[in-house]
Amino acid sequence: MTPTRDPLDPIAALCERLKLPEVGRLAATRAEQAAAAQWTYTAYLADLLDAEVATRQTRYVRSHTQMARLPFHKTLEHFDFALQPTLDERQVRQLATLQWVDAADNLIVLGPPGVGKTHILVAMAMQAIYARIPVYCVTIQDLVADLRKAWDENRFAARLATYTRPRLLCIDEVGYLPLNTLEANLFFRVVAARYEHGSLALTSNKGFTEWGAVFGDPVLATAILDRLVHHSTILNIRGDSYRLREKRQAGLFGEAAARPPLTSGNTATP
Ligand code: ADP
Ligand code: MG
Repeated sequence: MTPTRDPLDPIAALCERLKLPEVGRLAATRAEQAAAAQWTYTAYLADLLDAEVATRQTRYVRSHTQMARLPFHKTLEHFDFALQPTLDERQVRQLATLQWVDAADNLIVLGPPGVGKTHILVAMAMQAIYARIPVYCVTIQDLVADLRKAWDENRFAARLATYTRPRLLCIDEVGYLPLNTLEANLFFRVVAARYEHGSLALTSNKGFTEWGAVFGDPVLATAILDRLVHHSTILNIRGDSYRLREKRQAGLFGEAAARPPLTSGNTATP
């Protein structure tokens, strides 16, 4: 039933002034339901306010999911833990309470390609959005490209704030491509600026021993790792690729190739 919008209706007018559109929209129809079902006054009021809060939350989640720049939208409910036995489900669900974000701690997810690192990162970011924690997601390639441009244009400090302001910054794909000296230094600036101030969640396909090569400088890699790892949880996923599993099931690999050997670049041993 479409609710009536009578301009003389004082509730509609008051809700408009108070910016409570959902209450204004539903007040009349819910009043009829309340009368028919003999709700208490408090139940009626709570029902209306509940609808207003739910609508606002939906709108907030939608707009902030866009602003957080997530590569895709998946939660832990979409994650099949049975396929990833090296991942402790209870630990991941505990991490999803985001107490580590309250403490400005870090989360580092390591593992070969396709094992769900980005999925876990995105799931944490979505939890943060539900909890109204400011969050931003970026790949390390995009991060350093953006900061490099800002550096060249003499607006580095202003641009750095984009990556220090959110309470949770998710950085995906550390290690897929090596960084040059300037890029590695720009990344260090982000890590150093966030250290003990705001959480970093990061994924990498490279074990820590390989980070010297990723950052082109073992001393800088150590300085980065030192700050990242100091207050952190490390998840090391050692399973098979979910993407390849789907291909295997479609019969695109023979049995001999069912488990392609992992090259050293694909393993991650912290
Ligand atoms: P990685 O970042 O480790 O390379 P992704 O997180 O991008 O891998 O995972 C690849 C794809 O497989 C994504 O679509 C992801 O949602 C899916 N996926 C990976 N692991 C699982 C899992 N255990 N359960 C459900 N989907 C998964
Ligand atoms: Mg990934």
